[in-house]
Amino acid sequence: MTERQTPTGARECQHCTACCDGWVQMTINGHPVYPGHACPHSTGRGCDDYANRPRDPCINFNCGWVVAGSPLPDWMKPDNAKVIVVFNKTTWRDLPVDVAVPVGRRIPPRALQWLQGFSQRHGRPLLFSEQLKEGGVFQQQQLFSAHGPAEFRQHVERLTAAGKPLW
Ligand code: SF4
Ligand code: SF4
Repeated sequence: MTERQTPTGARECQHCTACCDGWVQMTINGHPVYPGHACPHSTGRGCDDYANRPRDPCINFNCGWVVAGSPLPDWMKPDNAKVIVVFNKTTWRDLPVDVAVPVGRRIPPRALQWLQGFSQRHGRPLLFSEQLKEGGVFQQQQLFSAHGPAEFRQHVERLTAAGKPLW
């Protein structure tokens, strides 16, 4: 997560701490991390225990902006575009499915339009979320929507209605 670089050093997290700030909802060493509840190791500039960060999710996290060969343009850096993208999160009918979560309540329109266009051009179904709030307070919960073929959207609706995980 923070301070991570691509093997080529092409892109650096520097100044972005979005994944450690709680927008990617997760649990770190038993601590729930979600909007408004950053990882206890996040200093707001980086990780205070980077060498010992957990393998799952930190070391295994594949931020779509940082991964080598990322198709995301420079402006889609999470702290700028306000979205974190993970490519190939799951599959549907052998197609790769990408996931996008907002750094904030919702993905801003410019970024969402880019992602939906990419999804259409490359035949990659997309799951994108809204961070849920109740009484003005972020919850430990996100609501996912689907972009792609109608059958994919129906499949996601069925899983959501049944309370089943999307991946
Ligand atoms: S969201 Fe991506 S760019 Fe930002 S700190 Fe995490 S890994 Fe780095
Ligand atoms: S342990 Fe470090 S790298 Fe992992 S989420 Fe916390 S601050 Fe980020």
